[in-house]
Amino acid sequence: MKIYNTMSRSKEEFVPIKPGKVKLYACGPTVYNYFHIGNARAFLFFDVVRRYFEFRGMEVTYVQNITDIDDKIIAQAIEEGIPFSEVAAKYTFAFLEDAKRLGLKAPHFQPRATGVMPEIIALIHALQKSGHAYEADGDVYFATASISQYGSLSGKKVEEQLAGARVAENTKKRNAADFTLWKRAKAGEPEWDSPWGKGRPGWHSECVVMSRQYLGETFDIHGGGVDLVFPHHENEQAQAYALTGKPLANYWMHNGFLNIEGEKMSKSLNNFFTAREILAEYDAEVIRFFFLSKHYRSPIDFNRELIAESARALKNFHAAFKSVDFLQVQDSPSIGGYESAEREFNEAMDDDFNTAKAIAVLFELAHQAKSAELPMPERIAAAHMLYHLGGALGFFQSLEEPAQDINHLTEDLINLIISYRVSARTEKNWALSDKIRDDLKALGVILSDTKEGCTWTVET
Ligand SMILES: [Zn+2]
Repeated sequence: MKIYNTMSRSKEEFVPIKPGKVKLYACGPTVYNYFHIGNARAFLFFDVVRRYFEFRGMEVTYVQNITDIDDKIIAQAIEEGIPFSEVAAKYTFAFLEDAKRLGLKAPHFQPRATGVMPEIIALIHALQKSGHAYEADGDVYFATASISQYGSLSGKKVEEQLAGARVAENTKKRNAADFTLWKRAKAGEPEWDSPWGKGRPGWHSECVVMSRQYLGETFDIHGGGVDLVFPHHENEQAQAYALTGKPLANYWMHNGFLNIEGEKMSKSLNNFFTAREILAEYDAEVIRFFFLSKHYRSPIDFNRELIAESARALKNFHAAFKSVDFLQVQDSPSIGGYESAEREFNEAMDDDFNTAKAIAVLFELAHQAKSAELPMPERIAAAHMLYHLGGALGFFQSLEEPAQDINHLTEDLINLIISYRVSARTEKNWALSDKIRDDLKALGVILSDTKEGCTWTVET
């Protein structure tokens, strides 16, 4: 299998650290608002990466973080006139809801930055002790000149970064390219105690801690949108090199931009869409088809015509299932004759996730399933293969039996909500803490606070 590695700017043979296992990290949302359709492209693509590895029998550990402390969250809290933790809680729930609607499989781990604060502080402290970071007036900066690899991921030369950084000159930095690891708290901002006084971490350290915690010092794949290559991923990688001399991940994957009707999406152009708005208009499966019909590294243009085309194409697949007895399709063990389709599909996907080519295989199968000229068992076999391969891309979820892990997901969601209540209580935000308890009670989930922590039961 070949993967395009941003690090080497070439397609490389994918060799996992442990045979048969894939450790995958993709940057998740910063929960200050509903996520937009460009973010949805990244979330959906890495959902497909995970699904395809699983389809090929690999054991995947997929971690996607939630950035719940950030300048943008603080700005939104001021705008909405509510505590920052409430902003984070509100948009985390919204994210989880929308992710589910979008048909994304829940990651194996979904850590929140505020849940790993002691670990983040320890990491920054370790960087400082080893001479890769320095403190200036309560802020801590990473010393980019202290490692030789700085700039290797983004391909940016230090001079270029200096040119960019000069715009916002910061005299506390030794070098204009140095980036913030820890920010001294300003009045009224959320803060944590640290060896450098009260403050909060920078985004780049959060992801280093959350990925390494679940996946180890160096893991297989780190992903995100192409806009994250610099500075976010460059700065994540820099910290890993400083700590261990080794890369954070062996493969860096980045999906391309999304434009709206040929223009860059922006609030000022009034062409900004949240995933929630788009999901109110279109089926999640149509959105999935639309994204996967293009190669993930190409830019994609979000326009109504292309979406309508995606909807028509999908109808074609569903018509194929209707044209045969679908129960037989689901129940029938794979009937021979279409293994070559699976081989073709895998070849396309093994070539740096060429989903467009893989979808062409699905079209051919749909065509055969509908063909009146073929005997019924053969048509059922084609439909069966369509169902099997489409599933590897996350299609046909609506045809599945109700997912067995729904209970499991519910449990995870309740625990996540409770973790927010714990944060609220830590901040002495009793109003939010009580509201969470009462809202859960209205849904039949009863919380009890014990010495060991908060437990819950479902009212019957
Ligand atoms: Zn990240």
